[in-house]
Amino acid sequence: MTEKVIIIGSGPSGWAAAIYTARADLKPLVFEGAITEDNRLKGTLPLGQLALTTEVENYPGFPAGNMATYLDNSIDKSRRGYMNDHSGHGVSGPELMELMRQQAVNFGTRINTDDIVDVDCSKQPFVLTTLSGEKYEAHSVIVATGARANYLGLPSEETYKNAGVSACAVCDGALPRFRNQPLAVIGGGDSAMEEATFLTKFASKVFIIHRREEFRASKIMAERALANPKIEVKWNSVVDEVLGNDEKGVTGVRIQHVDDASKKEELPITGYFAAIGHTPNTDFLKGQLETNSKGYLVWTTPQRTYTSVEGIFAAGDVADDYYRQAITAAGTGCMAALDAERWLASKGLE
Ligand code: NAP
Repeated sequence: MTEKVIIIGSGPSGWAAAIYTARADLKPLVFEGAITEDNRLKGTLPLGQLALTTEVENYPGFPAGNMATYLDNSIDKSRRGYMNDHSGHGVSGPELMELMRQQAVNFGTRINTDDIVDVDCSKQPFVLTTLSGEKYEAHSVIVATGARANYLGLPSEETYKNAGVSACAVCDGALPRFRNQPLAVIGGGDSAMEEATFLTKFASKVFIIHRREEFRASKIMAERALANPKIEVKWNSVVDEVLGNDEKGVTGVRIQHVDDASKKEELPITGYFAAIGHTPNTDFLKGQLETNSKGYLVWTTPQRTYTSVEGIFAAGDVADDYYRQAITAAGTGCMAALDAERWLASKGLE
């Protein structure tokens, strides 16, 4: 059997694409990713980056309220257990993703909890191979595999993820644990400048820890950060270890000079924000689709989700190194669904 549309990925773009294609009666099949140790370590488990965050305060439609009751009524009980109750708050990242997943299921989306490890883009229908070795054929494919935040790879970063270690100031910066406290941002690019400047709204002080003596960031962003009285830069410095304990999470960071490891310093902080770039999840495509210089999939027509291969569409962060928000990912997932639907119709394959 040849599927009309296969969607690879299970973040907001994947589920938005599933909801739209299901409602268009294209009977989408979603590969949501495999639950493996490798995916856990890379940050690519099912439900994507949002499943790794806490509160989501900027996704429209979820003001603070009694979320627990709503979740009890709308999500399958078998998937409800692991989510924390959130009464009095807005929605959390995992809850938002479960809600989107359930919405896609409600319209008949089929889900396979496996990774796609290969897509043969050279002929139609496309042939997709899963991690468990199964083959699937599809007339159209929506790639919605997202991107993963880069971390330095220190064990201590891993220990305190969701307890003070984050890679998204916009997502997490306003949480109570970061308010009126000293924080640190790692990196020297535009993201680091933007995150540090954003965090000064909440923090008592923000350290930028950068490995060189000049920023990579654009002049205007760097100047804005440097002019901010709450920001202090630790130049030529790298992180040695994130410090903390079980009770409080992150309590500090130990840095060292790049040229002299004996020159160490401990900074008291409650939040550690990695801003050293993202990596789009495109390995399984093995270079068959056009990418930009940073490896993100390219939309070959402005305002369309077409990739360089006809019948393959890209949505969400895998094709976005700029906005990277849940709401923009969901929006482009909708666009990819409509593009796929119209393309299938134009080929008489709907
Ligand atoms: P980026 O420009 O690649 O910068 C990454 C930074 O992290 C660099 O300063 C780099 O140091 C540092 N870094 C990388 N690996 C490291 C490691 N292992 N240890 C220590 N430091 C490390 O990434 P980005 O800042 O996320 O920006 C990505 C793109 O989005 C850029 O094109 C940027 O202009 C754009 N962006 C734009 C805006 C805006 O205009 N509002 C906001 C955010 C991002 P080195 O400098 O030494 O290499």
